[in-house]
Amino acid sequence: MIICLALLLPCTASADEPERERVRLPVVMYHHISKDPARWNEYVISLDEFTADMDYLASHGWQSVSVRQLLDWYDGKFEMPEKPFMLTFDDGCDSTELYAEPVVAEHGFTGVVAVIGSVCQRFSEFEEHEPEYSNLSWQDAADMAERGVIEVQCHTWNMHELYPRNGCARRRGESLGEYRRALSTDLSRYLQGCEQYGVDAVPSIAFPYGAFNSDTIDVVRDMGFQAAFTCSELVNELTGDPEELFLLSRFNRPHGVSSGNFFSAWEENA
Ligand SMILES: [Zn+2]
Repeated sequence: MIICLALLLPCTASADEPERERVRLPVVMYHHISKDPARWNEYVISLDEFTADMDYLASHGWQSVSVRQLLDWYDGKFEMPEKPFMLTFDDGCDSTELYAEPVVAEHGFTGVVAVIGSVCQRFSEFEEHEPEYSNLSWQDAADMAERGVIEVQCHTWNMHELYPRNGCARRRGESLGEYRRALSTDLSRYLQGCEQYGVDAVPSIAFPYGAFNSDTIDVVRDMGFQAAFTCSELVNELTGDPEELFLLSRFNRPHGVSSGNFFSAWEENA
């Protein structure tokens, strides 16, 4: 009888807690959208390409998920659609608001823009905005967050450089204490900017250049962030463990590739 119970127990436990079905969640990463062909490159695409992407995703049954919905899914408060995906925009270019947002809204999608706090600050002090090269002000970010089509997330306050530090990663020779102080000071300034200008940002961050290490994740978690986007080009396979939210992979969408060629890699049997 004892042997029998011992054999049954693990079985009963796993029957009570069935493994949650994995969810495939591909994420696309855009930067700037430009109407000037001279600017198109790996990180700058045309408005026609962007519009074709949204048409492709809608016509192939993909449904966007916002950061808030993703976090709610981990809390059991949101049900994933059949073919979920996420739209992300890095750097907080004015083109995200002026070109992308209306197209995203028209397709019934949502997305998230990662803003660099110090750049928002700089463009808050400029009167002139030219969508080909300018960036969102804090007010623009606040307005976007309020409209809710494109959420606002963190891209650090001022750690968007490759040198002397690679993004917000720890520097060679920097003590862990120094690193934690530098990163938390930077992120505090970003959070203060959001607070000061009334930006209802989501608690997530896109690591500049995809540079990070395990210490980075510890600091951002301690600062209250609940999710982080990297630049490793993989389809996320979500299990429901909130730790995986700090390693969300994304595909950079370059200029010069058709929507079909780019997105067909996301299909299950591609
Ligand atoms: Zn960036």
